[in-house]
Amino acid sequence: APEPYDAIVLGAGAAGMMCAATAGQRGLRVLLIDHGPAPGRKILISGGGRCNFTNLHTAPDRYLSANPHFAKSALGRYTAQDFLALVERHGIAWHEKTLGQLFCDGSARQIVDLLAGECAAAGVELLCGQPVNQIAHRDGLFHVTRNGVDLTGRALVLATGGPAIPKLGATGFAYEVARQFGLAVVQPRPALVPFTLGPADALFQSLSGVAAEVAVHWGKTCFREAALFTHKGLSGPAMLQISSYWEHRTPIAVDFLPQADPGWLVEHKRQQPRAGLRRVLGATLPARLAEVLAERLELDRELGALNDKALRAAEARLARWPFQPTGTEGFAKAEVTAGGISTADLSSRTMMARRVPGLYAIGECVDVTGWLGGYNFQWAWASGWAAGQAIGTA
Ligand code: FAD
Repeated sequence: APEPYDAIVLGAGAAGMMCAATAGQRGLRVLLIDHGPAPGRKILISGGGRCNFTNLHTAPDRYLSANPHFAKSALGRYTAQDFLALVERHGIAWHEKTLGQLFCDGSARQIVDLLAGECAAAGVELLCGQPVNQIAHRDGLFHVTRNGVDLTGRALVLATGGPAIPKLGATGFAYEVARQFGLAVVQPRPALVPFTLGPADALFQSLSGVAAEVAVHWGKTCFREAALFTHKGLSGPAMLQISSYWEHRTPIAVDFLPQADPGWLVEHKRQQPRAGLRRVLGATLPARLAEVLAERLELDRELGALNDKALRAAEARLARWPFQPTGTEGFAKAEVTAGGISTADLSSRTMMARRVPGLYAIGECVDVTGWLGGYNFQWAWASGWAAGQAIGTA
């Protein structure tokens, strides 16, 4: 039988390529397998084609997980600055767009080339374009059957991501393998995903294409970013962010004027008693949105004709406008999967399964989910690096 690989990495995405390159650079013999035709397909479409490859404000509190402490170790040892240094070593031009989000000036293809180049330099063997049929563990070795061929590794790394955007080849394969080895899986759910609205909010669907800077609240969680009305419901960064926290059948609340001072509407009445609410709102908000809000509040009269109590009530409503999403657009439109392989069964330092020596899980398939803005790639890099450093040392 051929000599086993030191590690077989399943999934040539962000985490898998980082892990394979890191392990390969340590002199290990690494095989990287993907069922898709080429590595890094999600990276190619990420960040609108420019890949938001990390975030300067990376911190553990920007990740969701059943164990909020789990991500600390890996994120602390492989930082946004570490990945940025790699980007610069490869001569890739970059810029900060907003909120610490770093993007390529050119194209996401540069990040895929960077990772593929690191893998090649580290002697990683890459096999694409065939599904993995079966996985077994005997005599201390992992057996991966692919295309009728039995491949063996001393370590097996699960890096096949989650089921978000199945048309790109995304699957829940990592969960199946994890369960096969007795690891728990936290119910996977679509995250960073647009909301759908029902008939009660039909008026807002007529605003399809209109965007505004808002603050969206769900419980104690709040994001102040742009929101976008769609023909199905609500999208844009603020909505995608809050969707990761949202629970079905609960309302979200939108503050349409997060920069307004308390009492601003009563103050407006003193200054401009002849103005209508629609015009007042239109000074800050897109005209069509101002119109719909004024219509819904049934206050489209001169401010001077309205009493202060009514104005204060309108102000309160505009600061906490309730929406009751009927659901989300699901895995078909989700940017990431929340939930996944339970961190309770993994070492936070090495990403190795506590009870299955040699089995690792990294990236999106693990129950660690970042905010929008480069946080998910940073988790892929950090967890991939942590496993790549640890393989073969235990
Ligand atoms: P992936 O990168 O998804 O890699 C998994 C790999 O496993 C894939 O190559 C897949 O083909 C392969 N695979 C799947 N199933 C199997 C199987 N059964 N057998 C063999 N191989 C398999 N995050 C950011 O931080 N910044 C962004 O700008 C950003 N933009 C995004 C835009 C979009 C449209 C989407 C969908 C996501 C975006 N994300 C972004 C999220 C980010 O892409 C993921 O969090 C990240 O790719 C996860 O890395 P991963 O290696 O765990 O999984």
